Amino acid sequence: MIKAVSPQNADIAIVGAGFGGLGAAIQLDRHGFGDYVVLERSGDIGGTWSANTYPGCQCDVPSNLYSFSFARNPDWTHSYPEQPQILEYLHDCAERFGVMPKVRLNCEMLDAEWVEDERRWRIETSDGDISARVLIAAPGLLSEPRIPDIPGLDSFKGNAFHSARWDHSDDLTGKRVAVMGTGASAIQIVPRIQPQVEQLYVLQRTPPWILAHNDREIGPGLKRLYKRVPAAQRLARESVYWMREGLCAGFVAFPPLLKFTELVAKMHIRRQVKDPELRRRVTPGYAMGCKRILLSDDWYPALQEPNAELVTAGVSEVREHSIVFADGTEREVDTIVFATGFSPTDPPIARRIRRRGRSSLAESWHDSMRAYLGSTVAGFPNLFFLWGPNTNLAHSSVVFMAEAQLSYVIGALESMRREGAAAVDVREDVQDAWNDTVQEKLSRTVWNTGGCASWYIDRNGDNPIMWPGFTFSFRRMTRRFEPAEHIALSPAGRASAVPAGA
Ligand code: NAP
Repeated sequence: MIKAVSPQNADIAIVGAGFGGLGAAIQLDRHGFGDYVVLERSGDIGGTWSANTYPGCQCDVPSNLYSFSFARNPDWTHSYPEQPQILEYLHDCAERFGVMPKVRLNCEMLDAEWVEDERRWRIETSDGDISARVLIAAPGLLSEPRIPDIPGLDSFKGNAFHSARWDHSDDLTGKRVAVMGTGASAIQIVPRIQPQVEQLYVLQRTPPWILAHNDREIGPGLKRLYKRVPAAQRLARESVYWMREGLCAGFVAFPPLLKFTELVAKMHIRRQVKDPELRRRVTPGYAMGCKRILLSDDWYPALQEPNAELVTAGVSEVREHSIVFADGTEREVDTIVFATGFSPTDPPIARRIRRRGRSSLAESWHDSMRAYLGSTVAGFPNLFFLWGPNTNLAHSSVVFMAEAQLSYVIGALESMRREGAAAVDVREDVQDAWNDTVQEKLSRTVWNTGGCASWYIDRNGDNPIMWPGFTFSFRRMTRRFEPAEHIALSPAGRASAVPAGA
């Protein structure tokens, strides 16, 4: 039940202080919408880069691209940034752009209800209630850890934790450790902890496609150049951007193009894995690109160390001190690390967003998550998502996508200010047409046709996750807010809805 609204109201409430939420705050300030508050459930800003502190955590998109376009960083130490540096970068941006005073840490959004009569969101948080006219939800796509429901897990007497909630108090030195999963997180964790532990079991259900990493240190000369001649770093960013856009065709238009990359990945296995039986077990049986393509130079070597074992029999049970596998074998373990991913197709925030007297967003999304431009949802006025449905990428930086969405959000706010409207709600037919096009394009992509099970596909067999196109097309579509595609609501107390832009 919503309690009395405190005086801490704002015109705009942003949920999440990761890349998306901080980017939103900075852009709002720059466009004269300074009356906002950022609600962050954890004790720090940074989002995924504050939550994921596992050994080896690094972004697999180059640093020059995985950063805000308006805040280049000449101090990256590597071509691919590591987690502590990304977190430091976000702290620096938040300070530099003056966002911190409006961030409320340890403040979790518990419920948000759109009250039509007031033209406002009434928001219940773990730190009091507020009201806001606009709600920008930037909770992150990969923020809800998923731990599989394994029989007996509750009885385990050792330590068990998820990769995104790394337990730094557990010194793994000399321990028997099982890492479940072989996705993007696991392939960074395993090589880092293997030299430290006594025995490592890597529990693989499906092997990933892996390419050589080619991460490089950025030397002092290049850093100096980036500092003195910012245009040089802009050029470096542009080059990476366009190289990456070139990869897009293989994912979305013509998956056989990825066959060549598949050969390169097979050569990587040949070079690094000597035992033919192990080669067979680590070679995927689905089309490259169907799951995220991973980068690593030390994954296969780590698996072949004497203290490491790749276990491919499924887990059937966990006991007090061991894991039992489907082939009847059992391994004693002290710690289990669940590198088992997240639940992006069932975001908890959708259960917390409602319209008074109507269903929650989760109920509206029961069939599948749907939005217009991944940003607005028909029937939920003044709600804007960053990284909502169909905005994730396999080939480029999601920071670019969030910036593109923010153009649309700012456009909506400016349109409301210009027209004297209190709220906008995307037209249902516009949203439906958009989603039909997106889903039709997705049906030809490697994510839908590649023969794998991935977190891109939801329980109904739809793909509400990936953006099936070039990122510059998405930017073009989000560059302008089109009033005619929306219904505008006049301020509370005045006559009803008017077509936006009327
Ligand atoms: P993920 O890619 O979803 O991988 C989860 C792993 O756990 C998969 O190998 C999966 O096997 C396995 N798994 C899940 N449930 C299981 C079960 N019940 N039994 C056995 N195995 C199970 O998760 P993630 O590695 O955390 O990565 C998620 C996403 O985060 C990435 O795709 C990427 O977008 C992002 N990420 C990026 C980076 C980076 O930039 N370097 C690093 C980490 C994460 P199946 O394949 O058989 O399902």
